Amino acid sequence: TEEYLRRSDKIAAVGQMASGIAHEIRNPLAAIKWTIKLMQAETGQQCQSFDMILSEINRIDSIVTELLSVAKPQKTVMFSIMNIQAILETTVLLMNIQAVKHRVHINLSISEDLPNLYCDENQLKQVFINLIKNAFEAMPNGGELTITAEAAGSDYIRVRLIDQGCGIPAEQIAKLGEPFYTTKEKGTGLGLMICQKIIQDHQGTMQFKSELGKGTTIDIDLPVYQESSCLNTPTA
Ligand code: ADP
Ligand code: MG
Repeated sequence: TEEYLRRSDKIAAVGQMASGIAHEIRNPLAAIKWTIKLMQAETGQQCQSFDMILSEINRIDSIVTELLSVAKPQKTVMFSIMNIQAILETTVLLMNIQAVKHRVHINLSISEDLPNLYCDENQLKQVFINLIKNAFEAMPNGGELTITAEAAGSDYIRVRLIDQGCGIPAEQIAKLGEPFYTTKEKGTGLGLMICQKIIQDHQGTMQFKSELGKGTTIDIDLPVYQESSCLNTPTA
């Protein structure tokens, strides 16, 4: 659809822009940061303004970092035949310390004998990490995050994330994944854009259902590995 094309264009534009200027932003940023730290040390004062400047610099730096991860040349993309169970288990293990901090309990439930995926393991982990982080941030008082994986017909695997967070107003669902769309004070609005791009690269889909005050459910459908279709191995 038109909306879809418009968004892909936007993503491509962000990628190009990012690779063009990210490094140019980072160097002067680092110089400013060190100058501020030096001034801080020289004046020997505990000054709130310095801390404010430093925290804003860190914010810019994290935006640039996320932009770079979108714009990164494809050389890091490596598709292989993988089981979703391994990917989800390591990701949840990785996120468990943060989950405890956020007082979130992660339930992971994976159907037995799911077919393999043909995927880039690290990129899919990136997707789940971004979505799990969003779930934590949506549940400031903690709660349950349920992650399931099951077959969706014979051609797809469906990974579902269900949180008990603040939910998303219906009129904002369409904006999810738009570059820089964020409702968070310290958000970058790039996490879901990265997720969408990666899922798109895997010929998959991502769908949001949400109820305000109740929580959000995200369905990710990924095509299963078909031996026949991989005779000419997709190249990244
Ligand atoms: P960021 O997390 O930096 O704001 P994202 O692209 O990850 O950027 O998310 C964009 C926006 O989508 C968030 O600011 C939030 O408003 C909304 N959102 C994403 N995931 C959830 C969720 N699980 N529950 C509620 N809102 C969400
Ligand atoms: Mg996010």
